[in-house]
Amino acid sequence: MALNGMQIYKLLPRKNCKECGFPTCLAFAMKLAQGGTEAEKCPYMSEEAKAQLAEATAPPMKTVKFGRGDTEYTLGGETVLFRHEKTFVNRPRFAILFSDTMTEDEIKTRIDHINAIDYTRINEEMYIEVGAFRCESQDKDKFTSLIKNVTESCPKIVPMIITENPEIAKAALDISAEKGPILFGATADNYEDMVKLAKENNLLLGVTADGKENLYELVQKIQNAGYKELLLDAKSRNLKGAFDDMVNIRRTALLSGDRTFGYPTAAFVCDMSTDKMMQLACASLFVEKYASIIVLSDMDYAMALPLFALRQNIYTDPQRPMRIEQDVYKIGPVDEESPLLVTVDFALTYFIVSGEVERSKVPAWILIPDAGGYSVLTAWAAGKFNAKSIAKALKEFDVENKVKTREMIIPGKVAVLKADIEDELPGWKVIVGPEEAAALPNFLKKYKEQ
Ligand code: SF4
Repeated sequence: MALNGMQIYKLLPRKNCKECGFPTCLAFAMKLAQGGTEAEKCPYMSEEAKAQLAEATAPPMKTVKFGRGDTEYTLGGETVLFRHEKTFVNRPRFAILFSDTMTEDEIKTRIDHINAIDYTRINEEMYIEVGAFRCESQDKDKFTSLIKNVTESCPKIVPMIITENPEIAKAALDISAEKGPILFGATADNYEDMVKLAKENNLLLGVTADGKENLYELVQKIQNAGYKELLLDAKSRNLKGAFDDMVNIRRTALLSGDRTFGYPTAAFVCDMSTDKMMQLACASLFVEKYASIIVLSDMDYAMALPLFALRQNIYTDPQRPMRIEQDVYKIGPVDEESPLLVTVDFALTYFIVSGEVERSKVPAWILIPDAGGYSVLTAWAAGKFNAKSIAKALKEFDVENKVKTREMIIPGKVAVLKADIEDELPGWKVIVGPEEAAALPNFLKKYKEQ
């Protein structure tokens, strides 16, 4: 449980030496209790006090990792129940189910779907992160060959090994441990062997039990066995039950501060319905509340678009606008004569404008200056989108050597910037574009005909 300021104060050396940057030990303790500073700032604290404080000031929900290198992912670490309270920090990861009883055609279809999902949206690469391998045949060789086949065909996925048989788990780890898989299937009957395997390989361990009460007991046993890298599953395989599990586990951790349930959870959407649209709906729900690994039977490109966009929107800081990187973007096969448009770095604006430019079929450049992440009028009113910021971006991204027309199209809503920009950039002609992005296709076609 969290310590209050006075309890922390009693653990401090009480020298009042100010080396932590606070006037007294008490002031430091109060700030530490609020999470506004770190225990390491006091150089005189004993190791024992540091350990006590680390435990007491750790977030109520543990942060865990799986995968290795470029495909290492972080789960958990959430501190609020609702995104508007602060922000959610570690997005859930999508997994596609593979069973060793599936036909070759079914396996191939899922592999093809995984490989087709690979695109960038607002500076984030979107792809399936996890392959969930469920051993149903109880045949070690069949299971390991499935994992080998799929992971070779989909190099980006991290395996999630689903079996309650420690011998089969060990065989699967022999061929996949270097990828940092999730070992899923610790139960009341096998947990000692599964903990041993997870410890040896430094893996995230999936703990599964029938119902929250049994799960709670099992987690306590595993914690007592000295392992705390856990992913929880209370085994409800219907929407209502799983939703109840997710919410109660998260509320127990965050509101009651009970760290036995302070771990991320998995949702097996693949077992809730065979209907693709129903799985999409369930997965959307668990993105919001509160799964960290969401296992679907399959996900084609059309399903991925709304799911990944939803995840990105939920797992961004609501107090910070979504921005795209400042740059000069190419829409289509541009050349030196292609039109140059300028707009702001607010992600939504950029996507609307670039979508309309694509629709026009007129290849164009879009210059994005630093506009504070605001929409056009807000950025202009805040003094963030002006002649100076546009001129700075033009130089920074070497636009003068890329575009020879010496013309730039600005949003109609900030027509007032025309004179300022022409003063700031001698030799450039500013053309006032339409007020609404929807009018861009016609505008660009006419512009090219001139
Ligand atoms: Fe107290 Fe440590 Fe800060 Fe010194 S550095 S004032 S001992 S908390």
